[in-house]
Amino acid sequence: MKFKLTCDEATAICSKNQYGEASVTDKFRMLFHVLFCAVCKLYSKQNTFMTKCMSSVDKKGVVKSKLNSEEKEEMALKIKEMV
Ligand SMILES: [Zn+2]
Repeated sequence: MKFKLTCDEATAICSKNQYGEASVTDKFRMLFHVLFCAVCKLYSKQNTFMTKCMSSVDKKGVVKSKLNSEEKEEMALKIKEMV
């Protein structure tokens, strides 16, 4: 197994990691990759953010809890930082 990942491999592992399916070795390889790859680092950050957003929605698409105005502003700032 090679240690160095391509960007395609890193994003695939990142996606698997969001569902708890990545092995410890893969997580380590991905972390090493994002140290040197700004694009995959951003992808990983956005993926984590989307997972957190989706965790607040149940299977019927109903939002479990609503954000207050302070939380909405914080989320808007985080989105602007990512873009
Ligand atoms: Zn990359």
